[in-house]
Amino acid sequence: MGEGSLCNLYGFPLGELTKQLEAIGEKPYRAQQLFDWLYVKKVHSFSEMSNLSKDLRETLSSSYSLFLPSIFKKEESQDGTIKLLLEMEDGAKVECVLMRYDYGNALCVSSEVGCSMACAFCASGLLRKERGLTAAEMVGQVMVMNALLEKEMERVSHVVVMGTGEPFDNYDEVMRFIRIINEQKGLAIGARHITVSTCGIIPGIQRYSEEGLQINLAISLHAPNDEIRAKLMPIARKYPLKDLMPAVKEYVEKSGRRVTFEYIMLRGVNDSLDCAAELVRLIGDTFGYVNLIPFNPVKEKPFERADRKVVEKFRDYLNNHGIKCTIRKEFGTDIDAACGQLRVKYERKSRQ
Ligand code: SAH
Repeated sequence: MGEGSLCNLYGFPLGELTKQLEAIGEKPYRAQQLFDWLYVKKVHSFSEMSNLSKDLRETLSSSYSLFLPSIFKKEESQDGTIKLLLEMEDGAKVECVLMRYDYGNALCVSSEVGCSMACAFCASGLLRKERGLTAAEMVGQVMVMNALLEKEMERVSHVVVMGTGEPFDNYDEVMRFIRIINEQKGLAIGARHITVSTCGIIPGIQRYSEEGLQINLAISLHAPNDEIRAKLMPIARKYPLKDLMPAVKEYVEKSGRRVTFEYIMLRGVNDSLDCAAELVRLIGDTFGYVNLIPFNPVKEKPFERADRKVVEKFRDYLNNHGIKCTIRKEFGTDIDAACGQLRVKYERKSRQ
């Protein structure tokens, strides 16, 4: 950080913050006090941190900012889904979505501004990647949503890194983010309640298996072979299934965690029972679950969602052949719920 520029305090895991405070001669427990102010008492200024000395508060405010994203646009659905378009300090706009399940409130967090993966069915890739988000900007998405939920006495209990962006294209910041929200003395979102979804970046999967956290991994598969997959996902050319599947298997062996394979059901593209049979063979001994995703229509994209009956048959075929399979519950169909749609709508307007 250059002189004059402030580091965002929301971007530090507790361990790192402790070291920074020690470096300026403070006791380690000060970092815990700070975490408590930020994530438990949720104050927005150093002056409110009454158990810190005035000197320390001044030192902190000359080195750190407490910037949180602002709400640029908010959409709320009949089913309680909340979609936010947030504005970052540099004006970048980023989406996050809250989905209400029986087991808790899951926030879908974005990891990048735009995305360079260019999947054929996805609205996020309509706007190319501008930059990765910092850990602080990802924590900011959780903080802003928590502030909205506070009046209902609710909180974000689960996080899925499945918003705009490819998390393994921004690996370090995503992992910092996870360590921050996982911190027991802070937001305390359990590792088992955190999921990262990747389009299949193999070096990222390998690193993720070494993290030693009980976090979950989802792989966007979307096709049972490279021929179909490469038409949907350009990344399939760089990391074909013959390399991807062994990497997933190795992850499962190393981490002891099972993976979820995501599979968007696209009419006439990947929804046949032949595809289901091929998928059974492909997944084989990785023991992964399959989550079938109803396609969220994107008007710029030439795909249609598969018929419900076809999706159910596909699911039954997998379940009958030893692969655990569910159909993803849909949220917020009355708002722009598909990944990246809200942002595309506003960015296009503002560019015109
Ligand atoms: N880049 C990561 C995470 C972001 S995308 C990944 O590829 O996994 C999150 C999930 O939403 C992916 O499975 C993606 O393929 C899916 N998705 C993208 N556009 C969609 C759409 N229009 N309808 C349904 N799912 C979509």
